[in-house]
Amino acid sequence: MPTSTSDTPKINLLNLSWEEIHALFVRLGEPAYRAKQLIKWIYQVGVDDFSLMTNFSKTLRNKLSEIAEICPPEVVWEHASPDGTQKWVLKLDSKNQIETVFIPDKQRGTLCVSSQVGCTLDCSFCATGKQGFQRNLSLAEVMGQVWLAAKQLQEDNTPQRRKITNIVFMGMGEPLLNFNVVMHALKFLTDDNAYGLSKRRVTVSTAGVVPMIDQLEKYTDVSLALSLHAPNDMLRNELVPLNKKYPITEVIAACKRYLASLPDRRSITIEYVMLDQINDADLHAKQLTKVLAKLPCKINLIPFNPFPNTPYQRSKKERILAFQQQLAKAGFVTTVRSTRGDEIAAACGQLVGQVNDRTNRQKRYQNAIAVANV
Ligand code: SAH
Repeated sequence: MPTSTSDTPKINLLNLSWEEIHALFVRLGEPAYRAKQLIKWIYQVGVDDFSLMTNFSKTLRNKLSEIAEICPPEVVWEHASPDGTQKWVLKLDSKNQIETVFIPDKQRGTLCVSSQVGCTLDCSFCATGKQGFQRNLSLAEVMGQVWLAAKQLQEDNTPQRRKITNIVFMGMGEPLLNFNVVMHALKFLTDDNAYGLSKRRVTVSTAGVVPMIDQLEKYTDVSLALSLHAPNDMLRNELVPLNKKYPITEVIAACKRYLASLPDRRSITIEYVMLDQINDADLHAKQLTKVLAKLPCKINLIPFNPFPNTPYQRSKKERILAFQQQLAKAGFVTTVRSTRGDEIAAACGQLVGQVNDRTNRQKRYQNAIAVANV
C-alpha cells in the first residue's frame, strides 16, 4: 500500500457507510455509480489494492490510494477444526480483541460476528458479560470481520470449505446497543452490490432492548432472534438483568410489532439456554408455551456452555429432549443447538478477554473445547 503524501491519516473505506462512500466520490468529482463499483470491489471481490480496480482510471486509482485504504482488524490467531469450523481472533487495538467464528453446516455457512468488545448487559450465564464492557466496535471492525472471513474462505478451495450464506450477530456484545454501526453493516450484508445475503439469512440477536427493536423497522428487515432464556419475569430478572427494564410482555410485544412491519411472513427465533435445574423444568416449558402463544416463532434450545467460575451447569441431555418434546407437542418448532455448534458457541466471544498471548489463548481454547465436549 503506497504511503500517504500528506500527514492526514488515510480514510479506512471499511469504516464508511454506503452514504459516506457515495459522498466521497461526489467530493472527488466522480459520478455516483463509482460508489457502487467501489463497494463491489471491496465486498464482492474482496480487493484491498486499488491498482486492481480496473474499471477505475489510473488517476482515480492513484487518488484513492493516496487518501484511502482498506484496512480490516489484524488476525492474531486462527484455528481451523477438522469439521470445517474456523475461528479468528482479531486485534482491534493494543487493548482489545474480538472473535469471529465460521460454522459450516450441510447447506449453510454461518458467520458469527461480534458487535462490541465485552457487553454491558451482564447476563448471569454469559462469559462475555463477566468481562465487563470495553467499547462499541466501529463499522470497519464489524465489516472487517466479514471481509476477512469471506476473503479467506474464498481463497481456501478445500472441499469442506464453504462460503458465507448466513450471518448472525451472536458474537460478543449486544448489537442493538451499537445500533448505527450495526444498521450500516446490515445494509452492506444484504445489498446486492455488496454481500447480497437474503434478509432471512441475516439475524440480529438481542437480549430485548425494546426501544431499539422499535427502531429496527426504519432501517432494516433482517431476521430477529430474542434471547429469552426464562418464561417468567422473576427468573428472567435474574438471568437477563435487562428484563428489569424491559419485562417479558413488553419485549414480546416489541417483537410482534417488528414482525408486523415486515413485508413477508416471518417468525422470531427464541433462544433459550438450558441451565440445569434453573429454567429447564416441565413447568418452565408450560409457562413458555403461554408466553409465546401469540408470537410467530421457532425456539432454539441452547445447551449451556460452561466457563470458569460459573455457578451454572448444562441441563442433562434427557431433560433437554423432554423440554423440546413438550414444546413441540404444544405446536412450537423447537430445535436443539447441536453439540458441535454448541462447542463453537462456547468459543464465540467467550474467551478473548481472558487471554493475552497466543500460546495461552491456544491452550485455553483447546481446554474450552474439552470442557464443552464433556
Ligand atoms: N447480546 C445478544 C447477542 C450475543 S449472545 C443476545 O443476548 O442475544 C448470543 C447468544 O448466546 C445469546 O442467546 C446468549 O444468551 C447465548 N449465550 C451466552 N452465553 C452462553 C453460554 N454460556 N452458553 C450458551 N449460550 C450462551
